[in-house]
Amino acid sequence: MEIIQTLLNINLDYLILILIVIFFTLEQVLGTQFKFNNRLHHLYHNFLMYVALFLLNIFWAGLIVFTIQWFNTQEIGLLYWIEIPLWSKIFLGILMYDLSSYWFHRTAHYLPVIWRFHRVHHSDTTMDSTTFLRAHPLELMLWFSVSEILTSAIFGLDLTILGVYYLVLFPMFFLEHANFKYPKWLDNTIGLIITTPNLHKVHHEQDEFYTNSNYADIFIFWDRLFGTFKYKPTEQINFGLEEFDEPKKQTFWYLLKSPFLNIRRIQSDKNNL
Ligand SMILES: [Zn+2]
Ligand SMILES: [Zn+2]
Repeated sequence: MEIIQTLLNINLDYLILILIVIFFTLEQVLGTQFKFNNRLHHLYHNFLMYVALFLLNIFWAGLIVFTIQWFNTQEIGLLYWIEIPLWSKIFLGILMYDLSSYWFHRTAHYLPVIWRFHRVHHSDTTMDSTTFLRAHPLELMLWFSVSEILTSAIFGLDLTILGVYYLVLFPMFFLEHANFKYPKWLDNTIGLIITTPNLHKVHHEQDEFYTNSNYADIFIFWDRLFGTFKYKPTEQINFGLEEFDEPKKQTFWYLLKSPFLNIRRIQSDKNNL
């Protein structure tokens, strides 16, 4: 319990800033899978997206905390009916948040109005660890926070469990998007259960056949279970979305307003030739 409390005292925004510095430096020093210029420019525009989320969260995060705490004080949710140790609760909680996020993410690919926001995350044509930061703040606030509130209410999860979930999720996200040469054996071993970086990168392929696959954040077995698992070797992947493949469409302002623009999805079939 003490360890958990110590971990939860870590400010998540500081954690993200530290992870940005560590990953950005490592990607500069170690051999990367893909080369691209203007990494600072890329970082700048992705980072601005995170700043926008941070500013909106000053008001929004309080509301989420209040709502989840209200459910907890009413003792609403499945885990209030059974007596299990805290460790099992945390493990089950992470599993349930991940399951919920799988379905919300999958839905975001099929509901056109949500896809308009979600495609911002997919728009990055030159991926590195900062691609994790590229997500439209309104999507995270209005879509994925609903997923977290609902999951907390259904399963009776509290802010401690949500906090531990974030502590697992954020470093995972940096690893999944990082431009490192990850060995293939990872995909054939822990990749049976956990979302490895190579498996998440398949989700960033331009070809819609692959974009609509590998939705899971932490446990790839949700995709294996629900029939959305696909594989393509990382070196063959064309990242991003063709309709965003222009320098001016890779900027913060364009991406921020892009959900409100009518941008037609371009079917990329060059990968199937
Ligand atoms: Zn997606
Ligand atoms: Zn991603």
